[in-house]
Amino acid sequence: MSALREILATGTRTFSFEFFPPKTDAGERTLWRTIRQVESLSPTFVSVTYGAGGSSRDRTVAVTERIASETTLRPVAHLTAVGHSTTELRHIVGRYADAGIRDVLVLRGDPPGDPSGSWATHPGGLEYAHELVSLVTALGDFSVGVAAFPERHPRSPNWDDDIRHFVDKCRAGADYAITQMFFDADDYLRLRDRVAAAGCDTPIIPEIMPATDARQIRRFVELSNATFPAHLARRLEAARDDPAEGHRIGVAHATGMAERLLDEGAPGLHYITLNHSTAVLEIHRNVIGSAGPPAAALTRAVATVG
Ligand code: FAD
Repeated sequence: MSALREILATGTRTFSFEFFPPKTDAGERTLWRTIRQVESLSPTFVSVTYGAGGSSRDRTVAVTERIASETTLRPVAHLTAVGHSTTELRHIVGRYADAGIRDVLVLRGDPPGDPSGSWATHPGGLEYAHELVSLVTALGDFSVGVAAFPERHPRSPNWDDDIRHFVDKCRAGADYAITQMFFDADDYLRLRDRVAAAGCDTPIIPEIMPATDARQIRRFVELSNATFPAHLARRLEAARDDPAEGHRIGVAHATGMAERLLDEGAPGLHYITLNHSTAVLEIHRNVIGSAGPPAAALTRAVATVG
């Protein structure tokens, strides 16, 4: 299997799906149903988020290892520096390598409990993502991804600092970046232009998160600090008691944004699934249209979504 960096270097558009480690047996069954549906589409990769602590981290590692051993998918393992010594970080990377995983999405992470609280570096650990990029690339031949923020990282005091530190992560060895969720394509395009103006050509894959229910908006904004467009909020609010209409509005908005991003040259699309596939598979089907076999496989998968 080619390394992700090689695939991106060819200019082939990627498409990928993000999962999180579930807490319950029922959640595990839902996740695996979704993983199998996604597998039938042969995405470029799938990724599993890294939990804020203890058992959720073990579940991340376990789900990622199982994807590597039991499916045909390429798993990208998220890893954060939160609460870990460098010895522990080396150990986790070693476990991934033992499972044949060669792709890591490197993140600094946020303070557990309060993502906007003050950051405390582990006494034997790392302070910023670029240090973890250096650690992972020194440990082996990994394809490394990093985070990018279309509306700039909430802790960055200004755009210049934000872009400078982003470019530092790329120069430390990142092969690509995936963005935080956003709801206006212009935010992504402005970020991409700023990064290019700083002399950095690391591919930045936009993250697509469909918002299909007015009740989700506050949570999305809290999680991502993304600005939620007033016109979309109004339409979802009007459809608050009509889930089918909310779904239609969210899918249509995300489809339009994804199509524009690809038209503007985005290297791929990374869909947040929240472990369910219905909305993102519809968006992906809309985006790729009737483009041959992958679309046929997708139609089958969408038709079987429960
Ligand atoms: P960094 O790149 O270290 O940046 C953090 C802040 O520090 C920025 O403001 C940056 O400008 C600044 N900075 C960087 N270097 C320096 C320096 N040398 N001096 C001064 N300031 C500096 N979180 C999880 O817990 N688990 C996940 O699985 C997860 N997955 C994610 C996936 C994606 C695609 C994205 C976009 C985010 C994800 N996150 C995840 C959230 C992420 O951990 C947080 O957003 C975190 O606050 C930032 O991580 P980072 O890797 O961008 O940090």
